[in-house]
Amino acid sequence: MLIMKFGGTSVDGAENISNVLDLALTSRRDDEEIILVVSAMAGTTDALVRAARGAVAGEPGRTHILETLAERHESAAAAIGGTGTPGSFIGQTIDVIDSLLRSVNILGELTPRALDRIIGLGEGMSARLVASAFRARGIDAEPVDASKGLIITDDSFGEALPDLAATHASTRRILGPIISRGAIPVVTGFTASTAAGETTTLGRSGSDYSAAIIGASLEADEVWIWSDVNGILTADPKIVPEARVLENLSYVTASELASCGADVLHPKTIRPLVRRKIPLRLKNTFNPAHPGTLISGRFSEHPPAIISTEGLSLLTIRTESDGWRPDETTATLRRMANAGVRILLFVQSAWQQGLSVLVPSTDAEAAMMAAASGNLAANVRPNAATVSVIGPGVIMPAMAALGETGATLLATLQATADAGIIFVVPENDMPGLVRRLHAKVNNGRGG
Ligand code: ASP
Ligand code: MG
Repeated sequence: MLIMKFGGTSVDGAENISNVLDLALTSRRDDEEIILVVSAMAGTTDALVRAARGAVAGEPGRTHILETLAERHESAAAAIGGTGTPGSFIGQTIDVIDSLLRSVNILGELTPRALDRIIGLGEGMSARLVASAFRARGIDAEPVDASKGLIITDDSFGEALPDLAATHASTRRILGPIISRGAIPVVTGFTASTAAGETTTLGRSGSDYSAAIIGASLEADEVWIWSDVNGILTADPKIVPEARVLENLSYVTASELASCGADVLHPKTIRPLVRRKIPLRLKNTFNPAHPGTLISGRFSEHPPAIISTEGLSLLTIRTESDGWRPDETTATLRRMANAGVRILLFVQSAWQQGLSVLVPSTDAEAAMMAAASGNLAANVRPNAATVSVIGPGVIMPAMAALGETGATLLATLQATADAGIIFVVPENDMPGLVRRLHAKVNNGRGG
């Protein structure tokens, strides 16, 4: 059995969906059973988050955001056509989102629970579209909503944790019959539900994690994550043209790289697969002949890799009172998490009397509001980037490269003993630093 997850750009529109079908069908070996896990169409979840935040801030439900989403999904549905066209399903989903946004607007409050209800609906639409596209080709497929008791989690909305034992049973119960009748299940990524049936989400970009949870539950032979890049590279090829694909990675290294923001892979994806030693392959939808990156229990050696991310904001949060107490850190981070803010990194020292928090810039305003609601003063430094260097023995060369390029260091974090280091720098300083680092740490390795 092969589980294949397709990301947001892969399912963006009828043409891409048709490509997904081709890839899914040609990747299966003989009559191998396949299960697809899909993300929402590119940008959908972000749009839903914006709509929800707009609704609580006073915007009425049916804004241009919702209209645009409706239009994109409806035109894909129309292009897919066939029998059982999902057009009416799209319309119904948009109506549900509209009512939820109105409720948020009336209540003037956006709870993590309500946010999950709203943002989980994007995957429902894309799964429908993909399943319909299979059917339009005469191939039996069934959309499966993972928030209807398929993946069972706790109630930590926004970042829910799966109950693997319960999910083991539900995946067999729900997906088993679909597979036995020879149909292809097309499962919504990202979404799940509590045992009581409330919608939860697994955290942003969590569709990879969904695929791993399902793969582990059903003891699949392999899990493949299809996205729009060739795999994990030694650096961003847009910055370092000579960057190479890391063809084989250990579970440990892959998790480290994912945690530093290698956005091709959600950091939690690895864990469910390790125990059952299920290999994970990263593949490029737009370059399927490329072998991609294979992550398994078989490898340990790897060259150093550099992960860079941008579009971030560094918040510096201070208290007016005499001292910063540790419980203020907990309270601040919790308020931010409850507002759906993705906290990428935080650093603090006792003498600093405050806390630095790194978030995606799209979450900066919500993070500022969360700080303000705790009566804390916050400054924001937009246009920040991270440069992470992962690999044994990289710390000293990384420090040297930092000094040589003269990049401004806004914050730094050295996670584990000698496995790597993360620099937070201004976006403008990022490309130069990445190039210098890549040359330095790959010195003599033919990179
Ligand atoms: N659609 C969700 C997100 O944008 C999950 C995913 O794409 O993996 O975060
Ligand atoms: Mg992703």
